[in-house]
Amino acid sequence: MPFAALGLSIPLLRATSRYATPSPVQTDAIPRVLEGRDLLAIAPTGSGKTLAFVLPLLQRWSHTHRDQPRSLHTLILVPTRELAAQIAETLRRCAGHLPDRIKVVSAVGGSSINPQMMALRGGADFVIATPGRLLDLVERRALHLDRVETLVLDEADRLLDLGFANEWSRIVALLPAHRQNLLFSATFAPALRTLAESLLRDPARIEISPEPCETPLIQQRAIEVDTAKRTPLLVHLIKSEAWKQVLVFVGRKYTACHLADKLRRAGISAIDFHGELSQGARSQALDDFKHSRVRVLVATDLAARGIDIVKLPVVLNYELPRSTSDYLHRIGRSGRAGEPGLAVSFLTADARAHFRLIEKRHQLSIPRERIAGFEPTEAPPPPLTGGIKGHRKSKKDKLREAAARRPSPPQT
Ligand code: AMP
Repeated sequence: MPFAALGLSIPLLRATSRYATPSPVQTDAIPRVLEGRDLLAIAPTGSGKTLAFVLPLLQRWSHTHRDQPRSLHTLILVPTRELAAQIAETLRRCAGHLPDRIKVVSAVGGSSINPQMMALRGGADFVIATPGRLLDLVERRALHLDRVETLVLDEADRLLDLGFANEWSRIVALLPAHRQNLLFSATFAPALRTLAESLLRDPARIEISPEPCETPLIQQRAIEVDTAKRTPLLVHLIKSEAWKQVLVFVGRKYTACHLADKLRRAGISAIDFHGELSQGARSQALDDFKHSRVRVLVATDLAARGIDIVKLPVVLNYELPRSTSDYLHRIGRSGRAGEPGLAVSFLTADARAHFRLIEKRHQLSIPRERIAGFEPTEAPPPPLTGGIKGHRKSKKDKLREAAARRPSPPQT
């Protein structure tokens, strides 16, 4: 189906000219959003969901709001600054094709509030905000939400991970009761189900599965290696397989800094990317990586959310993600929008059981590899007994064990 069949106006069709056909989420969402319906879209990262809401919302704005400019028609809530920047860029690019001037303001935490207050003077048509900063701006009377007609929650699962449930009750009290609500999420956990039930009215539902249509574009490899050999192996792979641009995932900020440092010392340009960097440093790091001024970006999950680099060739799990659904988010960073990609996971002895769980959850079966010169010698840890999925002992198990250790009462 071409973009022209979705009900978009001619100027907005021009904004799609760089793409051959709409992606599945765009085909399903655009007509529903144009009708003014609420929407629940479960779609993986990289599926083209930004345009799926940006295009129809711009069209609705231009039909209904030309007479009331700058009255904050659309509020888009996002978990991270990077995602806000990506959406703002798409919105401005598409709005440039419309005859009206549309004002888009990003209001995100982690950078100074004053320029954002200045930008909001005289109002705005579209605001993209992180929840905490939005509430700060409302408190300072820089922003009023009483005329919002459409609310978008993007990457709602991540918003909830970051404590959005608490902010949500305050935000919803500031919004008009009658509005269009769009909820986009890569996963649909129970907490999100509760939010969706309270937020959406008779929503159109879209579910785009990441498999099997997305993952075959990404070649997945799992390499067994000892913990201490991971960095030398990474250096070896980057050099021997001539990887030009690699996004490496780690679990913690400390590991990101440490690994980037070691790579640099091995002569590979690398930069760390995590939530504790200033906004300026994060933008700079991303810009350097995007423009191939650095070869490796070593990132934590939270910071990496919202990174949009088309055709990212290699994603590497130096450490596995704790949540099985994050595995798909991570590897979805490679092979975006129809381009082939490579996702490599390092499997240390103590991560093997967790990787089997990831495979089971996503119905994957990835052959294990060993690289000559880096063959593992570590033995897997002994299996834990009892507890949740064999990982942790439950409270009951601990009480039982303590009881067993207590000396038995004297026999009379
Ligand atoms: P998103 O899921 O919105 O983050 O988009 C992921 C990537 O897909 C972005 O780089 C977009 O430029 C690209 N994209 C969006 N729509 C299409 C489309 N219809 N065809 C090909 N690529 C697209």
